[in-house]
Amino acid sequence: MNDYDVIVVGGGPGGSTVASLTAMDGHRVLLLDKEIFPRYQIGESLLPATVHGVCAMLGVREEIEKAGFVRKRGGTFRWGANPEPWTFSFAASERMAGPTSHAYQVERTRFDTMLLDNAKRLGVDVRQGHRVTGTLRDGGRINGVRYVDDSGREQQATARFVVDASGNTSRLHHDVGGRREYSPHFRNLAVFGYFTGGHRMPAPNAGNVLCVAFADGWFWYIPLSDTLTSVGAVVRHEATGRVRGDLDTAYAGLIDDCPLIGKLLGDAARATDPPYDTLRVRKDYSYDRTSLWCPGMILVGDAACFIDPVFSSGVHLATYSALLAARSINSTLAGLVQEERCLAEFEARYRREFALFHDFLRAFYELSADERSYFSYASELTGGDHTDAAAFVDLVGGVSSTDFAGRLMGEVLAEGARLQLRGVLGDAAGAEPPMFPGGLVPSPDGRRWLVPDV
Ligand SMILES: Cc1cc2nc3c(=O)[nH]c(=O)nc-3n(C[C@H](O)[C@H](O)[C@H](O)COP(=O)(O)OP(=O)(O)OC[C@H]3O[C@@H](n4cnc5c(N)ncnc54)[C@H](O)[C@@H]3O)c2cc1C
Repeated sequence: MNDYDVIVVGGGPGGSTVASLTAMDGHRVLLLDKEIFPRYQIGESLLPATVHGVCAMLGVREEIEKAGFVRKRGGTFRWGANPEPWTFSFAASERMAGPTSHAYQVERTRFDTMLLDNAKRLGVDVRQGHRVTGTLRDGGRINGVRYVDDSGREQQATARFVVDASGNTSRLHHDVGGRREYSPHFRNLAVFGYFTGGHRMPAPNAGNVLCVAFADGWFWYIPLSDTLTSVGAVVRHEATGRVRGDLDTAYAGLIDDCPLIGKLLGDAARATDPPYDTLRVRKDYSYDRTSLWCPGMILVGDAACFIDPVFSSGVHLATYSALLAARSINSTLAGLVQEERCLAEFEARYRREFALFHDFLRAFYELSADERSYFSYASELTGGDHTDAAAFVDLVGGVSSTDFAGRLMGEVLAEGARLQLRGVLGDAAGAEPPMFPGGLVPSPDGRRWLVPDV
């Protein structure tokens, strides 16, 4: 009764994605989350690759497009040597031109619930209020989990694969071996809350994420509706002493130090309805792992790694790693490719995407640079032959991985968008070459790995 093909721990974007994509391949999937949804999570600013790539593959893109989330055309920055705010828009990248050149600012309570409900519709056995307490092992292989169910009873379930998608508070990630390594470069602390009544930037950038640097760090200003705004201060390690004592006073003091944020807030008041009535603090959130899998177990999303809030890469990396994990599980269970080879492909692609964002964000924090330096650095990193500005947009849009380009060209977009992208991408609509010499390629439906014809 309690035996599955796949057990997924955690029902955030990473967990819902891997559970859905393996259920779509016909597998029996159990997803356990300790919370009852809707539950709060930070990470509200998405990238187009999540909406138009992964969410399209999950069949939930249209629902998201219709959900009334604030449309995000790009980002506006008061950052670096330039005293004036500057804006990039996703439409500046050819790969994201047309109807895919936007993302959304989402209330995670709603967004995550939509993905989880979608997983349920796809046949995943979703159980909320179920807390996983450990993994089971058979010889050298992880083959299940122990959990406490919603009535407090201890239970066990077994599976061919366990996926840890339980986020930054994961207790299971140790079980793949290796260790979590905290970044020596990103050691910031974030304190964040919500306001009603803040001003918006002028059209067409009203839905953009706004990032404003100040002496001790930077602020995000994310419009979540016409009236609700998420406002967070990311404080440099050296200045974290400012966030001691009374949190409200510390937060207000940080806002006072950032006049542009103060001006935009104007007479706005702190939100009073849950979950937005609380100030929250997060620290120690920038880390990587020396191992991302072991036989029978895979880490995705924040359970594996996270870099930094600037540029909204968290949900992208969570859903992208979940897609890579799902391909690996589906191909192994179908007997198409050996587990070890699939998971080596998973790890290589995941690490490449992480490193691309990581290295770029490090450069971005060098406040002495201006935006032209960011563009050329992005071009250097992506090694593309397109313009510097387009390389920058590709990078921050999460599509510098060719994975999404193929998928974006596939069946997932509306006919009009497909035609438009086909026009832009030309040959890119065809089969994808391997990303690494001797590597695997995605199947036409994007859910499995295949050994390429040589
Ligand atoms: C300050 C800050 C700002 C950020 N801003 C952004 C942003 O603007 N855009 C962006 O894309 N990302 C942002 N992020 C990152 C984003 O929050 C994460 O990358 C993202 O939520 C990861 O998704 P996930 O599915 O891996 O984990 P989560 O969304 O954390 O989901 C994990 C789930 O696992 C469940 N769980 C935990 N333990 C157990 C257990 N033992 N048993 C069962 N279930 C369990 C939890 O209840 C939870 O539902 C930000 C992060 C920080 C710290």
